[in-house]
Amino acid sequence: MERREFIKGSVVGTVAMGVGWMRDHDAVGEESEQPASEAELKLGSQESRIPGASLREKVLKIEEWGGVGLELHGSPRDRIQEIQEAIQGTSVEVSALCWGSMNGDLVSMDQEKRATGIAAMKEALSVAGELRSSGVIFVPCFHKQSELTPEELDQVLLDILPELGEHAQACGTRVLLEPLNRMETFYINRLEQAVAICEQVNHPGIRMMGDFYHMGIEEKDDEAAFVEAGPWLHHVHLASKKRFLPGQDERSFVEGFRGLKRVGYKDHCSLECGVRKGTDPEEEIPKAFRFLMEQWRQAVI
Ligand code: MG
Repeated sequence: MERREFIKGSVVGTVAMGVGWMRDHDAVGEESEQPASEAELKLGSQESRIPGASLREKVLKIEEWGGVGLELHGSPRDRIQEIQEAIQGTSVEVSALCWGSMNGDLVSMDQEKRATGIAAMKEALSVAGELRSSGVIFVPCFHKQSELTPEELDQVLLDILPELGEHAQACGTRVLLEPLNRMETFYINRLEQAVAICEQVNHPGIRMMGDFYHMGIEEKDDEAAFVEAGPWLHHVHLASKKRFLPGQDERSFVEGFRGLKRVGYKDHCSLECGVRKGTDPEEEIPKAFRFLMEQWRQAVI
């Protein structure tokens, strides 16, 4: 699939027309630099990145540092109460559940494995719904988890995703496809490839995300990639070029943030990264949040 030509301003309108996405200020078809609505930078983090003795302590730190999102791992059915109590009375909400691939079981040709994988994803979606999470992050397969070709995997996804989309929608959440770089998987490396799946399934319960770390390896143009993904995009992972905290190496977020602004992105941006050796997360995470806020300010459209 060829990347669509990115023409400043007009792509937003083109993508918008394709999905009936309404803009605030212009008639559809007019060229404009205006996004559908004002984008927001909602910073947050995966739970494991934040220091703290309890989940409540971690949530309070995220809030103190200017964040509003908490991303959790897996399918934390047995932690629902703990999570709800931890965010209670704060501005922090559950952004996403980072669920993964379950060893590629959902795309397995072994029908029993596939059924088990689908049931586990449905359970994660139910938990996500109870936590009011915007979605459950799904990777169809990492390397060595599938013998199928990308074309065969496309067909499997087209077979399984409508049912998962129905369940996700009933739970008030979404399946979020995550593109990963080629060192981690041979299948879905770029945002446009996840867009193609979302377009074909065309179900409100099936959406996607972008991860600045993987995008730094796979995308030629962060801004164009996010603009193309705009109508389908519901989560973003933040990490530097070497997968440290944003600001700990030369990775710029300005181009990508410009793309997010162009599409009026309002979902969460969540840290998924390490910290540079010898640096203190207590100091470095608030610094990373300030750095990202400054990069967002510099992303003028
Ligand atoms: Mg990620």
